[in-house]
Amino acid sequence: MATLTFEQARQCVLKNLCAAQPQPKIEVVSLSEAAGRVLAKPLTSDRDYPSLARSVRDGFAVRAADLPGELLVIGEVRAGELFPGDLQPGQALEIMTGAPLPRGADSVVMVEHVTVAGDRVTVPRTIEHGENVSPRASQARENQVLLEAGHRLGFSEIALLAMVGWSTVPVYVRPQIAILATGDEIVEVKESPLDYQIRNSNVESLAVQVRRAGGCPTILPIARDTYQATRELAEHGLRFDMLLLSGGVSAGKYDIVERVLADLGAEFFFDRVLIMPGQPLVFGKAHGRFFFGLPGNPASTMVTFEIFARSAVELLGGQKQAHLPLLWSKLSQDFHQKTGLTRFLPAILSPDGAEVTPLSWQGSGDVPSLSRANAFLVTEPDRESWAAGEWIRVLLK
Ligand code: AMP
Ligand code: MG
Repeated sequence: MATLTFEQARQCVLKNLCAAQPQPKIEVVSLSEAAGRVLAKPLTSDRDYPSLARSVRDGFAVRAADLPGELLVIGEVRAGELFPGDLQPGQALEIMTGAPLPRGADSVVMVEHVTVAGDRVTVPRTIEHGENVSPRASQARENQVLLEAGHRLGFSEIALLAMVGWSTVPVYVRPQIAILATGDEIVEVKESPLDYQIRNSNVESLAVQVRRAGGCPTILPIARDTYQATRELAEHGLRFDMLLLSGGVSAGKYDIVERVLADLGAEFFFDRVLIMPGQPLVFGKAHGRFFFGLPGNPASTMVTFEIFARSAVELLGGQKQAHLPLLWSKLSQDFHQKTGLTRFLPAILSPDGAEVTPLSWQGSGDVPSLSRANAFLVTEPDRESWAAGEWIRVLLK
């Protein structure tokens, strides 16, 4: 079975998802419900934007060729009005921000740059042709495609939909993602665990991460570490658009997830990635559905979802691009590591993003440390040390 580097594993996930060409169904939602959804049809412009040349300043509409000079003020035009007449040479029209330019004018001189006396305005300077004017169709032409299908809708896209008059929006139906925790030691959240038991936190974090990626999570009952229980639940999970399993993918005697999936006819793309946390990590396809076998330690589960499964959910949801924003920031202190793995370590990014500080943590089970973090420090596998002030990659949490 394949052991891959972080980059290879990521390419493998993206390549397989793209090759599958997900074709989600389409549903229509109201504009107010469209944020966070993925646009299912191209958004076209219903008219030119702006539909007329408009002033972007308060001032006087003029012919640039008349300046400098003294002009006759023939009236005013406000936003929401259209001036009926033409501007002749030697004339100016008082104009407000957002108001359409009168015929004959080509520029606007700012009110701060003129002196007004009665019906005369004196402009002591020249201006550029077109200055302070937003020309017709300079933002978009009628019928121009403004957003392609596959674009996830945020606040500015909602403004754009509103601008062109879409009160309802065709979006892709969210992918259904099954979440299956495995383990004899796992108990429900509302139970009191014995000292050797652990509450099922992974399905809760995964459900939140799935929703954030645009998917619709369903949490299946806990699979005990028996072949039969794991097989039945995994088979059920493979009826969803994708299956996420947590735990049972290491080399222990009761880590049976891979065997179960193999017996279900799975094709495996990789089962180990040179990362920390989360080395044993399975990605494959069975019954025509993708699955991830995520390692059970909570930090491993969360990190491997973020760097691999999140993109898979996004692509299954019809997004054209899956995002993994790796930014750069400066280390606030020296940092050392053993080479060989790409590490994703809990860290605090300063509020301005300028500086990153690694947090102390006790390994992949340390949820409290992860909860204090707002980012992951991402190390290159072949580098041993960084000095304070050096650039290092950061993944936002
Ligand atoms: P595994 O990958 O199955 O060997 O699990 C490794 C460790 O992760 C277990 O010993 C638990 O401490 C923890 N773990 C596994 N599954 C869960 C879960 N669903 N919720 C919280 N912790 C878990
Ligand atoms: Mg286990």
